[in-house]
Amino acid sequence: RQAQYKRLRHRPSVTLDGEEISLMLNAGLTVDLPHLEEAGAAGIGLFRTEIPFMVAQTFPRMREQTGLYESVISAAGERPVVFRTLDIGGDKVLPYLRAVQEENPAMGWRAVRLGLDRPALLRTQQRALLRASAGRRLRLMFPMVTETGEFEQARAILERDKLHLQKHGHDIPAEIKLGTMIEVPSLLFELDELFRIVDFASVGSNDLFHFLTATDRGNPRVAERYDAMSAPFLRVLKTIVDRAAVADVPLSICGEMAGRPLEAMALIALGYRTLSMSPSAIGPVKAMLRKLKANELRARLLPRLEAGRWDGDLRLFLKSYA
Ligand code: PEP
Ligand code: MG
Repeated sequence: RQAQYKRLRHRPSVTLDGEEISLMLNAGLTVDLPHLEEAGAAGIGLFRTEIPFMVAQTFPRMREQTGLYESVISAAGERPVVFRTLDIGGDKVLPYLRAVQEENPAMGWRAVRLGLDRPALLRTQQRALLRASAGRRLRLMFPMVTETGEFEQARAILERDKLHLQKHGHDIPAEIKLGTMIEVPSLLFELDELFRIVDFASVGSNDLFHFLTATDRGNPRVAERYDAMSAPFLRVLKTIVDRAAVADVPLSICGEMAGRPLEAMALIALGYRTLSMSPSAIGPVKAMLRKLKANELRARLLPRLEAGRWDGDLRLFLKSYA
């Protein structure tokens, strides 16, 4: 198997019926970077910047952060990198940052909420990212955006950081693309407004599923209870990809399901064309899609999804199809 996946590394990521699928890498540490080449990824679809912060002893200073981001960008070469601003809080704690006691940390003071309330943290990081991307394209997205207004606030802070750097004679990126994670259900009811103001978006299916089904993603007792491959969740994922297509906004999906071949198969049938996943998932997903007739599967899947009945288990249906 491993040898088979290795052989696929330089083969095109195209379905049997000619749909090009971009397979990207989820990463967070410099040790992940060699996987770009080894797995034959098209780029980094999600760089979780909180991971280096979680393994550090003290809060990384701007210079340190800049160095790290530069090394990520240079390892990626011509390939795109999507950086996500700090997603700390919740289950992601920094040992050196005084933890606030919260009853429900997953729904608490975390991610972009913390960044907006304590702009100093966000600004240090954004300046480091802007400097590291000088003269190139910076792709940056925000985690746990709950309403479009938060995206606008974060964008305004970035705008100020850009002006600040320019005023002090620093080079800035040649181009900046700003996006958001779609992982809090309230955003689903603001998709049209959202897609008017973002340059791109990425579905965080881990948190989206967790919040939509009220099922703690870290709790093994309920882990098996609800299925991402159920009609309600697939309908949500379809709504997002359809609306993004109408708005002509590039969309990816970077939750764990994108890296599971059977689930990736359903995602491709729904219309997803950019999937971001852990390095070891790229080979198996590529092997699956190169044998897939995406449009034929779509034609069989959508009526079932609209009818809301699976005639049994969707997984079995997909397995028989694969
Ligand atoms: C997600 O929520 O699906 C996601 C990709 O982000 P994280 O797993 O880092 O919360
Ligand atoms: Mg998330």
